Formats: sequence, structure tokens, C-alpha cells
Amino acid sequence: MTSGSMHPDFVWWNGERRPWDECTIHVTELGWSTVGAVFEGIRAYMGDSGDELHIFRLQEHLERLERSMRLVRLRLDYSLDQISAATTDLLRANEIREDTYIRPLAYAADTSGKRFAQIGLDAALLINTSPMASHLKTGITQTAKVSSWRRISEDVMPPRVKNLSNYRNSQLAGMEARLDGYDTAILLNQQGKVSEGPGACLMLISRNQIVTPDIGSGILESITRDALIVVLREVLGLEVVEREVDRTELYLADEVFTCGTAAEVTPVVSIDKYDVGAGTIGPVTHALETAFDDILRGRDARYAHWRTPVQVATPAAV
Ligand code: PMP
Repeated sequence: MTSGSMHPDFVWWNGERRPWDECTIHVTELGWSTVGAVFEGIRAYMGDSGDELHIFRLQEHLERLERSMRLVRLRLDYSLDQISAATTDLLRANEIREDTYIRPLAYAADTSGKRFAQIGLDAALLINTSPMASHLKTGITQTAKVSSWRRISEDVMPPRVKNLSNYRNSQLAGMEARLDGYDTAILLNQQGKVSEGPGACLMLISRNQIVTPDIGSGILESITRDALIVVLREVLGLEVVEREVDRTELYLADEVFTCGTAAEVTPVVSIDKYDVGAGTIGPVTHALETAFDDILRGRDARYAHWRTPVQVATPAAV
């Protein structure tokens, strides 16, 4: 990334790494192409040595991209190995030496003048990178409100994939929460059970057991949630149960946190003005933040298979 610039030098677009300012599309291309778009959110973390980035669970993210594209009937013209190589190449070309968000976006190309239900449109694929600092272990906390908006359900939209249109639901809930003075929202599903946050899954701790809404509760098939279930069991030795969760359980929990690529592990200290536990970061959440940070930054060798290392050159001495 050029020093002082808010954008990377390069993006990867339709098979090529290209200069950022050459990557434009005509305004008439917007509209249906964005309604039909699917995307991924991936993070790369800087290792302690300062010359190695670790992409977290790249393969799993690309497999989810493939599933999302399949569902919205967009054809993926690249192998996952090709996209994986394009991603690591992009991080190097952009000379990235900080925690970074990587966003592949697949959309229907050439939709101008086409009807919205047209199938068999060519897919375009874009990969962008942007800085995103980790907030693990910074002491950040959130207050939450149970949203008056319900989470989209399987009979309306597919919540388990990363469909761009799904995020209107997230946006409405997030905006409502913030306007009401909370940091984030918790959405219930159509059955009134706890689902997830606008852009993150949710776990609660009650009497030494971790409970998280199951995939059938209308959640995204979260890659972080999946990893944290393993970490909670294997590293912290705790019991984790995936099941339907009632709203009352949120108010009575000892600890609650949201989790996701952007959320990482974010402690929730109050819900609808009920203090969660003591109203501060609880011991399990605290321990989990440390364990997860060690995994993301390459300190914990047990989970090397979750990391794609990318060597990034150290800046030349001046
Ligand atoms: N739910 C929603 C709606 C999300 O947008 C995200 C972020 N991708 C998550 C959950 C967490 O998923 P992941 O751990 O794969 O980032």
C-alpha cells in the first residue's frame, strides 16, 4: 500500500492483478449485479517477527465462497488454488505489513439492460484488501439490544451463505441498535429463538457450559465460530453445546461474546440493560481472547493448519 493512501496499490480482478485506479465499472452495471453478489471476509494477521502474515482459514473461506456462488447460480471460473495464489500474491504486491481484511466479491458481470431473474450470467470476481487492526485483548466491550427485526429465515433468504442482499437485514438491525444507544443488535429468528448479530455469531456461558445457536437457528455458517468451538474444547477444556437458545438465557448468562472474522471475540457486557454477569469481561472470554490471538498470530503450533503464511518483505532501510 502506498504510504498515506487509503487504498491498496492493486486489486485482483477477473484473473489479473491490476492497479487500483484502473479497476472501474460503468454505473449502469450496478443494480442487479449487486443484488446477486456474494462475498467473503477473510483476515490476515501479522506475526510477531514482522515479516510474515498469516491468513486465517483461507481454504475454508474459499470453500464457503464456492458454496455461496453455487447457491446464487454464479459459475466460479477459477480453482480454489488459483484464488488462493491470487490472494497471497496480492498481499505481497500491496506490501502489506499490518493486520488486513481480504474481501473476495463475486457478482454477475454485464447485467445492464438484463432482467433480474436471468440465469447463466458470467460471474466476475474481485479481491480487495484493506487494513483492519485486531481489537483482541484491547479491553473493548459492547452493549447489545435484542432487535425488533427478525433474522431472515431459510424460507425467505439463505442465511447460511454470504449473500450480499442478506446484509440489508443486518443493516436495519444494526442501525436500530445504534440509534437506540447500543453498540450492536442480537437478532431472534422467526421462532423467537436467538440467532446472531448483524455480522457475527454469538456464544454464551452459563454454569461453565458454552452454548451457541445451532446452524438451523438462521445463522451464517461461521468459520470463526467453528474454530472457537474447537479452541474452547481443546485449549480451554470446556463443554460446548450447539442448540436453540432462548432470549431469557441471554439475560441470565454469566458471559456473552460475539464472534466472527471482523468481530474476532468481542465481549458483550450488557443486553437490553441487563448486566451480563458482573457487567465486565468474564474469565472465559478473557482466556479465549488470549488463546485465539496466539493462534491467529502463529504462536500456537497446534493450529498451523488454519494458517496460510505469507512472507512479506521488510521495508528497505533508509
Ligand atoms: N454472521 C454474519 C451475518 C456475518 O456477516 C459474519 C461475518 N462473516 C459471521 C456471522 C461470522 O462469520 P465468520 O466467522 O465466517 O466471519
